[in-house]
Amino acid sequence: MKKILHDLGVAELKEYLSAIGEKPYRAEQIFRGLASGRKISEITDISKDLRLKLTEEFEDEPVRIISSKKSKIDDTEKFLFALSDGNVVEGVLMKYKYGNTQCVSTQVGCRMGCAFCASGIGGLVRNLTSGEILAEVYAVNRYLGGNTEKREVTNVVLMGSGEPLDNYDNTIKFIRNLSSEKGLSVSPRNVSLSTCGIVPNMLKLSNEGLPVNLTVSLHNPFDERRKRLMPIANKYKISEILSACDEYFAKTGRRYIFEYSLCKGENDDKACADELIRLLKGRPCHVNLIRLNAVKEKSLLPITDKEAYAFKEKLEKAGLSATVRRSMGADIDGACGQLRRKFLGETSND
Ligand code: SAH
Repeated sequence: MKKILHDLGVAELKEYLSAIGEKPYRAEQIFRGLASGRKISEITDISKDLRLKLTEEFEDEPVRIISSKKSKIDDTEKFLFALSDGNVVEGVLMKYKYGNTQCVSTQVGCRMGCAFCASGIGGLVRNLTSGEILAEVYAVNRYLGGNTEKREVTNVVLMGSGEPLDNYDNTIKFIRNLSSEKGLSVSPRNVSLSTCGIVPNMLKLSNEGLPVNLTVSLHNPFDERRKRLMPIANKYKISEILSACDEYFAKTGRRYIFEYSLCKGENDDKACADELIRLLKGRPCHVNLIRLNAVKEKSLLPITDKEAYAFKEKLEKAGLSATVRRSMGADIDGACGQLRRKFLGETSND
């Protein structure tokens, strides 16, 4: 596998160009060209010689959209990306009134093994590099007709396959380069990072000076019951997660969000609602209730919409801020890892 030019920020590109005897000012042209979703070979504001030199050493197109599928219900679009080593990851584009939000993958597979999630079924294959995560956004922005002047992807959520805080350095570098004004200028405030709760890295994140929307997958307010859904709960207690969230708020001033995927008989009872209220009341947080997207390999079942809204009302009545997340792309395998699994299944049958 060749190297990935998208891994380099503008300063690193300048250094690299100086080292090979090229003018450093070319760095911004290259960075802008890549951020517009162009292949190296399409960046025609640099010389053909330089393009050739670069493509000898770097992947011309490290992330390529190989299929896209649009929901008939809500315009949500799901993408399958091929990486240069043949691995595939998925991404989703959701259209809202205020802009377009892209959900990106940070790893091929995942080693967190959550009970309801399709991404972790085959374990972790490998981390994505910062440049590969970035190239997912660049590719979709271009697909929508955007470039660096006309930005089509306005918000990014790290909620595709993978655990971003298990691929920490690449995730941080991705957010920094995504926000570069020489590229797409997506502010960290428009980025949501979702984690299963890797406490030491949550603390590290609070010191990065990157005020992203921190989102934590809670799914059960009792440590023992949470372990049934999320193996990471064996490592970090909910009390430690809450302290890390406090720290994040103290350092960034940003309210944090808890994700709570409602599973029948697992976390939808009165005791769970009461404990959630006890734990979260008075905290600068929001609870995002998710209707379980049933995955065929898993036995967990969703609850009805009526039950989900009743759960939300209970939280709201007690003074918590809560919403039931709009279910998007239900007809296009919207849940994490579903499309990749389908693709792997289809391609390995012959
Ligand atoms: N690794 C990150 C991102 C995961 S995806 C994390 O754990 O937070 C974003 C959210 O969707 C997480 O809260 C995850 O637990 C949840 N999720 C994954 N599969 C799901 C499914 N089939 N139905 C409902 N929620 C799911």
